[in-house]
Amino acid sequence: MDFKLTDEQELFVAGIRDLMERENWESYFADCDRDSEYPLRFVKELADMGIDSLLIPEEHGGFEAGLVTVTAVWEILGRLGAPTYVLYQLPGGFNTVLREGSPEQIDKIMAFRGTGEQMWNSAITEPGAGSDVGSLQTNYTRRNGKVYLNGSKCFITSSARTPYLVVMARDASSEKPVFSEWFVDMSKPGIRVNKLEKLGLRMDSCCEILFDNVELEEKDMFGREGNGFNRVKEEFDHERFLVALTNYGTAYCAFEDAAKYANQRVQFGEAIGRYQLIQEKFAHMQIKLTNMRNMLYEAAWKGDNGGMTSGDSAMCKYYCAHAAFEVVDDAMQVLGGIGIAGEHRVTRFWRDLRVDRVSGGTDEMQILTLGRSVLKQYR
Ligand SMILES: Cc1cc2nc3c(=O)[nH]c(=O)nc-3n(C[C@H](O)[C@H](O)[C@H](O)COP(=O)(O)OP(=O)(O)OC[C@H]3O[C@@H](n4cnc5c(N)ncnc54)[C@H](O)[C@@H]3O)c2cc1C
Repeated sequence: MDFKLTDEQELFVAGIRDLMERENWESYFADCDRDSEYPLRFVKELADMGIDSLLIPEEHGGFEAGLVTVTAVWEILGRLGAPTYVLYQLPGGFNTVLREGSPEQIDKIMAFRGTGEQMWNSAITEPGAGSDVGSLQTNYTRRNGKVYLNGSKCFITSSARTPYLVVMARDASSEKPVFSEWFVDMSKPGIRVNKLEKLGLRMDSCCEILFDNVELEEKDMFGREGNGFNRVKEEFDHERFLVALTNYGTAYCAFEDAAKYANQRVQFGEAIGRYQLIQEKFAHMQIKLTNMRNMLYEAAWKGDNGGMTSGDSAMCKYYCAHAAFEVVDDAMQVLGGIGIAGEHRVTRFWRDLRVDRVSGGTDEMQILTLGRSVLKQYR
């Protein structure tokens, strides 16, 4: 495996670096985080560069650049302090839309390419159905040629802004569990969205959503009837990989901030980086960053060459969410008081990373997925 970037990949990465150096984005991100606002101005600039076309197949006008390219781009964005977690819901974030969506649904999503706007997200979790997705109660009923959606979802990322949601629901008329997905226009009557406060990842929204007899048509079904679980399984694998990428990039940024600080902060007459207790932290941080990087590029390479498994993405998410949090925590320790009481970005990173041990599937679920996947190979 050779992870040397091609000239085209290097060019894209250099473009991102230019964009990040063009202005003091950090103060913009800090404001957006404080106000829980989506950083649209920044994402629009990325969209102008084509970031939302990287994974889109050429037949749909995309670059079809693959996961190694995405890894390189997110690595540099994260390293320079950008909140890559707001990019999941851009039009090209999940290609299941292109595979499963009807031509009309695809057109609706793709119309927003280049705008920087988040387009859609999957709404699966409910108050009574978190890790145990199969216990969800939101349902659909067919009546007089229409379909009616009832129930509620919670913790749905980006849903304060997205014009569409793909909502998983069970067929109310079936004794056996039949789970299907519906492409729901969020401006329809009967939908209520309540924004929730959260510890981190505050530049992206997280909402509770109530559906009260929301009228849909058969053409609003997303994918095949009864295929909901299969589709989201594939999406989970992709999402978990992206979350791991975000975690790694964020840790890289905190690490470099802390390293520069350790070399210039003087206590007891010496730069604190001269003390072995501080050096030990950097040794451990570097080991974790190297492991994360190797794991992610390898998984991306597998994705581009015939298949990243559910076990791979669960391993990336579990390991990177932990290792990145530990790196950021060590960076915070090196920064001393300014990492705790000041306005340093490491404080935000620390809050952000803690969320990712739950959202996108908990640590425990990643372990279960990985364990099953490992043993399957030896059956
Ligand atoms: C910020 C954020 C954004 C999110 N975005 C979305 C979204 O966009 N769309 C969406 O559908 N969902 C979203 N979620 C929901 C997320 O996927 C769930 O929170 C997660 O799957 C856990 O569900 P839960 O919170 O109900 O916890 P539970 O499932 O109730 O789990 C509670 C604890 O019990 C553990 N546990 C549960 N079952 C087992 C078991 N069998 N063995 C061992 N331990 C177990 C869990 O790991 C966890 O530690 C989001 C959540 C957050 C926090």
